[in-house]
Amino acid sequence: MLLDYVTLLTAVGISAACLSIMIFMGWLMAPKDSYLLTCSLGGGLAGIGLLVYGFYVVSPIPIIGVSAFAVVLWGLSMLVGAGYRFRTDRSPRNLVIALGAGSCAVALPALALGYTGLGFVPINLAMAALMLATAAQYWGTRRHAPFAIAGLCGLYTAIAASFVLCAFMLLRHGNPVIETAPHGWAEDLSLLVMIACVPGIGAVTLALNQARIASKHRLDAMTDPLTGLLNRRALFDAVGERPIAERTAVLVFDIDHFKSINDRHGHAVGDRVIAVFARALEEQRPAAAHAARLGGEEFALVLPAATAEGSLRIAEQVRRSFCTLTAELDIADLACSASAGIAFGVTHGRTFEQVLNEADAALYAAKNAGRNRVFTAEPRIATTARLLSL
Ligand code: GH3
Ligand code: MG
Ligand code: MG
Repeated sequence: MLLDYVTLLTAVGISAACLSIMIFMGWLMAPKDSYLLTCSLGGGLAGIGLLVYGFYVVSPIPIIGVSAFAVVLWGLSMLVGAGYRFRTDRSPRNLVIALGAGSCAVALPALALGYTGLGFVPINLAMAALMLATAAQYWGTRRHAPFAIAGLCGLYTAIAASFVLCAFMLLRHGNPVIETAPHGWAEDLSLLVMIACVPGIGAVTLALNQARIASKHRLDAMTDPLTGLLNRRALFDAVGERPIAERTAVLVFDIDHFKSINDRHGHAVGDRVIAVFARALEEQRPAAAHAARLGGEEFALVLPAATAEGSLRIAEQVRRSFCTLTAELDIADLACSASAGIAFGVTHGRTFEQVLNEADAALYAAKNAGRNRVFTAEPRIATTARLLSL
């Protein structure tokens, strides 16, 4: 090689440590999300471990090697954890602890016992397994950014393959104890692969994080924060773009006398009542339907391929469920009811907005007829008012 092994090892270690500092600075910009922090700590530990391994290469005392790879294995476990957080948005703490402790327990005893040759086989295999586990975490999210994630998985897999190769060569030589750190073309190749892949991993990690933040913002912009339902704009995005299909039913709900609930019980209780209505809507919503909060105490349900009877039944179930859930709030003198209007996409080519307006007109008629009931636009059928709680 043009450069000696320790120099290259130091270069990889410094490069990983610097990248982890850059990623750490990226995390400082949005410290609530700990994905980049986990990446940064993982990459930093792996880099520091490689730098310590440089000392082992110079003076191959097992305890130095064990310390170096303990740090590397914990770092790589954190990278798996970062992938887990990226995929699930859940805390990776338990996974990292299990992987860190487990990989050290499996990989390090042989070297600790003085097997400075074959002792590196379980270390290389454990590092390869952790790299592959990281790739697997990201692979599970590839539909979000197929090319970037395939690239990232390729980089992790390439490093894993180079570790497997090192293990294979050590097994082939079969020396339980060697006087120097393992060296040969497999180790050199592994370092070159790391030099090539580590900056790529850093760059893709930062790019993926940006894409992830952007998609979270998109989701936030579509979601009503109080209820978690779609907001009005998201509903129009979902069903308002094309002419509404025949037999699609649009149901519009409005909580009755909501202003007086606010006035008597306060805004906070009003908010809870809105959240309860959203729960009723979610519980009664068929899987294929869209539920949205149109604004204030007004909600919509869009049912594809619905019959008039089916739509009426669902509207009644929502109203009934709303009353039951409101009673469960156990707030004295809090009686809630809601009215609903239903319209259908009976003729082809009508827009969602037209049908929504018709459902609104039916709702208005239901309000005028005394509230606490469901009206359909055409044919106009009023269900009997169910005075469940008033
Ligand atoms: P109706 O039976 O005719 O629908 O009467 P209403 O009192 O329910 O309707 P109105 O439109 O007069 O009042 C709606 C109220 O809802 C007025 C507004 O202050 C309140 N509101 C709108 N958004 C929110 C919210 O997010 N939280 C709370 N607590 N109140 C809200
Ligand atoms: Mg109202
Ligand atoms: Mg209203």
